[in-house]
Amino acid sequence: MSPVSRPELVTDPSVWQARCRADREAGARLVLVPTMGYLHEGHATLLREARRRADAFSAGESGGREPSGARGGAPRGVAVATIFVNPTQFGPAEDLSRYPRDLEGDLAMCAAAGIDRVLAPADPRQVYAPAHETWITVERVSQGLCGASRPGHFRGVATIVAKLFNLSCPDVAIFGEKDFQQLAVIRALVRDLSYAVEIVGMPIVREPDGLARSSRNVYLSAADRPKALSLSRALFAARDEAARGTRDGAALRAQSRAALEAAGARVDYVEIVHPETLAPVDHAEAGSVMLVAAYIGTTRLIDNVRLP
Ligand code: AMP
Repeated sequence: MSPVSRPELVTDPSVWQARCRADREAGARLVLVPTMGYLHEGHATLLREARRRADAFSAGESGGREPSGARGGAPRGVAVATIFVNPTQFGPAEDLSRYPRDLEGDLAMCAAAGIDRVLAPADPRQVYAPAHETWITVERVSQGLCGASRPGHFRGVATIVAKLFNLSCPDVAIFGEKDFQQLAVIRALVRDLSYAVEIVGMPIVREPDGLARSSRNVYLSAADRPKALSLSRALFAARDEAARGTRDGAALRAQSRAALEAAGARVDYVEIVHPETLAPVDHAEAGSVMLVAAYIGTTRLIDNVRLP
């Protein structure tokens, strides 16, 4: 284990922007992990990957680009993370006010992962000007799935991610496949607005029993916890069924929906989509992605698997 030193904590976005700019002017490469905090092992894998990639820059692996020490400084990779519960991606009836927070615990996890600097604005008004009126809408991939049941959610996501990219100017940004549609929205944002950032998607980290790690799992009561397992179980069963040769999307979806409902989950959607366009498919191909969203009590959970 590398020695644990506390990351530099920045709360003011304009200070953050100046610090990131100074790094870049000194020849450093930045690797960014945006989060909403209350960090768990899923986030930790992203943070460790950021450290690993930053160290690769420091070792001079510039990925075919100019050496990172081109301006005379020692080649250096800087791993940074942001912790911000972004209000604009929450709907009026959603869990913004009760979203779990633990800045001290988060900083300890960032330290253990070797993160150099953390932006954690104390107040959303530091991030959004009172007169904020500019929004980014990624049109096609934001529709359907979570976009259908959470109107405005991906507009809020795309806008905050664009702001974080403009504040940080990262060379690499790391996201989880747990939020599969979010990752597709961000890839489209980067492609369409020509952000010079490499987007890295990391596999879903699960509890030993299969439940996808999520900050929202803390909402689950002891009675809810076994019901929450129905999401991953339904997906894994569909994956096994597809491996046995069932390619009919309707059959796979129906089987998963029935399993979720039998477990007491209230299904928002069960869908099989193309991995890049997120267009629904009737015939599951190798690489198609099955996604579910379901309520366990009042807690809305999402999960997905790639089909074989
Ligand atoms: P959040 O704090 O929920 O906004 O998540 C921040 C980042 O961590 C996003 O890119 C998520 O996709 C990712 N993430 C959250 N949970 C997991 C998980 N269980 N496995 C992998 N990545 C995750």
